[in-house]
Amino acid sequence: VSEPATPLSLSRTKSLPRRPAARPVDVRRHNLALVLQQVAAEGAISRAELAGVTRLTKGTVSTLVQELLRLGLLVELGTQPDGRVGRPRTVLALNGDGHCGIGLEINVDYIAVCVANLLHEVRFHRVDAIDNRSASLGRVLDRSARLVQAAVQAAAAEGLRPAGIAVAVPGTVDVPAGRLLVAPNLGWSDVRIVDELSVRLGAALPVLADNDANLGALGELWLGIGAESGDYIHVSGEIGIGAGVVVDGTLFRGSRGFAGEIGHVVVDPDGPPCSCGGRGCLERFAGQEAILAAAGLPTTSATTLGQVDTPLRELLALLGQRNRRAEAAVRSAANALGIGLADVVNVLDPDTIVLGGTYASLAPWLVDPLEDVLARQVIAAAWRPVKVAASALGPDAAVRGAAGWIVNRVLAEPGLRVAA
Ligand SMILES: [Zn+2]
Repeated sequence: VSEPATPLSLSRTKSLPRRPAARPVDVRRHNLALVLQQVAAEGAISRAELAGVTRLTKGTVSTLVQELLRLGLLVELGTQPDGRVGRPRTVLALNGDGHCGIGLEINVDYIAVCVANLLHEVRFHRVDAIDNRSASLGRVLDRSARLVQAAVQAAAAEGLRPAGIAVAVPGTVDVPAGRLLVAPNLGWSDVRIVDELSVRLGAALPVLADNDANLGALGELWLGIGAESGDYIHVSGEIGIGAGVVVDGTLFRGSRGFAGEIGHVVVDPDGPPCSCGGRGCLERFAGQEAILAAAGLPTTSATTLGQVDTPLRELLALLGQRNRRAEAAVRSAANALGIGLADVVNVLDPDTIVLGGTYASLAPWLVDPLEDVLARQVIAAAWRPVKVAASALGPDAAVRGAAGWIVNRVLAEPGLRVAA
């Protein structure tokens, strides 16, 4: 919309504060991140090559590299012949033994933690399978804090320095305020999750929180399918069902940050009541418990993470034996999931549906029936069918995404996030 050329718009332009010239400290901070991210993108690169790609002078690059080495973010890998006549080059890389991010995932039937270094490599990973619905909020947070402390100790034992902790929770989160507004499947509402964990950890480390489906989708963006597609819906099946919507390589959060609550899309208005207070929601038909119950299996603590003997592994074994009841249970869930997803696909037109969480394990049995429903219900499917793929990170996407969030904050703002 163009503004009318009236005195009003003129005066408005005049009254705008002048954009301040970039301060030297801001320029330096920006350039520090620029160099660090270039090294992260290239894997290994010399100072001269860095100057070439960043268009900074060799002297500036040299000073910035010195600072990044001092902060422990970069290492010198030694010299390599550069294939041409002249001096061998010294190659720089991210320091995989320096700073790290800690990811925590509190889900309905497990708590997971992982430590990832600057290369996003997992250096510690632990999962406690436990039904958190049977414990009080305080006990779940105590247990989560103990798991984080175990991760901090494991990191320290390897000489890694945590730059922060990010927690993934199965509910709607006010990210800037660090508040979990509601997690229907845990029966939690209005939890100051960041403060609660910070107090328990007694640490000076920053703590961040976000929805598990968002962090799962971001995990895939940074470490999985993001290399191939920037337009996808990562749908994660646990006891609840969450979706992270990635549009043009960016997580779409919605105006208030609550986008992606696909588990509560209505599949049958006359269906069974849901923990959210509604009726006939998708997770009542396609959630982990619905699938297990339909297959005649127990529904408690079914995560495939960690433990060996869980009902979900039993389900996978039955599916491997072509058990009819198990196959019908998954087909029925795929049908409901397809109906819910078709609406979303018709509205958002993603390139790919990424099956995460327990759906990643069930993908061999989910993909075909899901594609059938999408072919029927998605208007453009005849011309451009939406792809359905299993997540690269599987059930670890959210906890990996949480740790990756901390790592990427360091890479984006090295001057702010770490001290030497
Ligand atoms: Zn619901």
